[in-house]
Formats: sequence, C-alpha cells, structure tokens
Amino acid sequence: MDPERRAPDDLLISAENLEVWYEDYHALHDICLDVRAGELVGIIGPNGCGKSTMMRTINGLLKGRSGDLTVGGMNVREVDLEEMAKMCSNIPTEFPPDFNLSVYEVVMLGRYPHRQSMWWESAEDEKVVNRALEMFGMSALAERDITQLSSGERQRTLIAKAYVQQPRIMLVDEPTAHLDIKYTLEVMQYFRDLIERERDMAIIIAAHDLNTVAKFCHRIVMIKKGRILANGTPREVITEENIAKVYGVKADVIEHDGEIVMIARHPIKDPGSEGSMPDLS
Ligand code: ADP
Ligand code: MG
Repeated sequence: MDPERRAPDDLLISAENLEVWYEDYHALHDICLDVRAGELVGIIGPNGCGKSTMMRTINGLLKGRSGDLTVGGMNVREVDLEEMAKMCSNIPTEFPPDFNLSVYEVVMLGRYPHRQSMWWESAEDEKVVNRALEMFGMSALAERDITQLSSGERQRTLIAKAYVQQPRIMLVDEPTAHLDIKYTLEVMQYFRDLIERERDMAIIIAAHDLNTVAKFCHRIVMIKKGRILANGTPREVITEENIAKVYGVKADVIEHDGEIVMIARHPIKDPGSEGSMPDLS
C-alpha cells in the first residue's frame, strides 16, 4: 500500500461531538467514534436508529451536521466527492432492480475514481478487476447479466466493485439482509478475510443479526435513537442488559465455542418486571 495514503496513527475515521440533521430532524446526537486500520466494525440497533445516517455522514453525503469528522486524515467538509470515493466505498444492500449490466461491467464501474479516461479502461483497470473477480469467486460469472445472479452472487459482485475502488474504508449497509444463512456466513467471511489480508483498511458493516455481527466483527457500536449506547468488543456490547435497553427484548446471551450467542426470548411487556428498565418510548 502507498505509504502516502496512511493517515496519522492509522486512525481512519475520527468523529467528535458529531450532530446530524435532516432538515429539522435531529438524527444523530453527540457521536464520538474512532475507527482504525485493521478493524471490522459492526453497527447495530433497531430500524430507524441511525445506522444508514451514520454511513452517509462518514462518506460526506450528508451536509447537515456540526462537530468534527475526519476520514482518512481529511476533514470531510473539505473533501470533494471524487477524493472521497478513493478513500471510502459504499456497498448498498441491493442493486437497483433494472440495472442491466454484466458482472464485469459492474465491477469495472468501481474503477471510476481511478480512471485516466472516461472512454476506455487501462490495462491496470482490467488487471485489478480480473483480480477482484477471482478473489470473490466471480470469474466464471464475469459475462453474466447481474439480473441473472443469486442474491449471494450479486452481493459478491458489489463487494468486488467496492474492492476495485481500492478504498481505505468500506461502508457496508445491511449486506446480508436478503441472504440465507449460508450466503450470510460466506459474505461476512469475505469481509473478514479482506480485513485480514489488507491490514491497511477498515470495514464498517451495519447489520441486524446480532449473532452474525458478534461472530465476525472486532468491535460493535450499538445505537439507540441516534446515540451511541455502547462501543466495544462483542462480549462487552452484546449483553442482556444492552439488548433490553436498545430493543426492549428479553434475551439470553451465552458463550458457545468461544463465541457470544444471543437468544431472543420475548418482548419486555412490563419493563419493571425484568430487572432492567428499557425505554420503549
Ligand atoms: P437505520 O439505517 O438505522 O434504519 P436511518 O439512518 O435510515 O436508520 O434513519 C434514522 C432516522 O432518520 C429515522 O428516524 C429516519 O426516519 C430518519 N431519516 C432517514 N433518512 C431521512 C431523510 N432523507 N429525511 C428525513 N429523515 C430521514
Ligand atoms: Mg438503514
């Protein structure tokens, strides 16, 4: 990796007292978050708590904010979108359904911040794309139209597209929302392998399934109504108390084969009766 791309101390994202608004809706409150190279970070929390908003703030798409945010050592306020695209790539949950391109063409789209010419690809672009197709097991499907792929294959195409952007940060929004358990494990393993191979980058994944996040992520950030409620290792964050507070659910958290496993039992009907006091308002 080019040493010039290294941010000081490998701190890739640094947010301090970040507040984010949509018009007059205050979506994120007092966010303080550091992410370093080599980290796979999971963002969890109920629907509407602000996970996607956090991603859109980090990649500079949301302008309504106060506080400090540096990404790759650059102040997000001063970075243009093309510079940001070299630093940060986004992986959405799904393609727009009428996106009619081959796997190869989609992955090549990821090269756009690096392209010398709008009109043709360089030998370097082709090399990087072919390597990514191989790495994510998509070489045999390179000519296939992406509308003719399984959800897992489509997701791998999106990861390959993000990878050829050669970012230092990948922002992944609910990558496994449409995947069955086998593809979920596979896709999460690709992210884990990626972070272990490329120690120079960080990956942030917003996800719903706590057990998946606990299994693969180094660190978990738990959000409740736009605030970070917990930030630490899976063991520190996935606790019965935090799950009651954030989801209003009585859960058992156990350790199995060295992994943290959460078993959801039931919604907490009477907050007083479970020992903890979830705020269900
Ligand atoms: P999550 O990804 O955790 O489900 P979001 O970040 O999408 O949550 O949304 C956080 C909050 O911000 C929600 O209350 C949502 O309704 C609101 N919100 C999201 N996008 C917009 C928008 N474009 N305009 C106004 N409010 C929005
Ligand atoms: Mg979301």
